[in-house]
Amino acid sequence: MKITCTKCFTEVTVNSDNFNKELLETSEREMGSENFYEINSGEIICNNCKTNMSVQFNVWEYPIGVINYFEQYETNGVITELPDFSRFIIDHE
Ligand SMILES: [Zn+2]
Repeated sequence: MKITCTKCFTEVTVNSDNFNKELLETSEREMGSENFYEINSGEIICNNCKTNMSVQFNVWEYPIGVINYFEQYETNGVITELPDFSRFIIDHE
């Protein structure tokens, strides 16, 4: 993922492997399960001005294996390249 600091406009590349993922809700629908995840980046420190940025995603997977919808919330930064959401949902078969 890439995020640009809103204070100094430096772009920071972030490894999304360490993002905290939580499966908050599973509901049954016509095409099977729908999963709702909350994904948090934790602290992202700007390389240049040391501003503390963070992002959160709310992600809905439905049907299984497909990202149906997501919302993004950024603090002190603007996302310039989204993470690959599929990596957050692959650990169930
Ligand atoms: Zn900065």
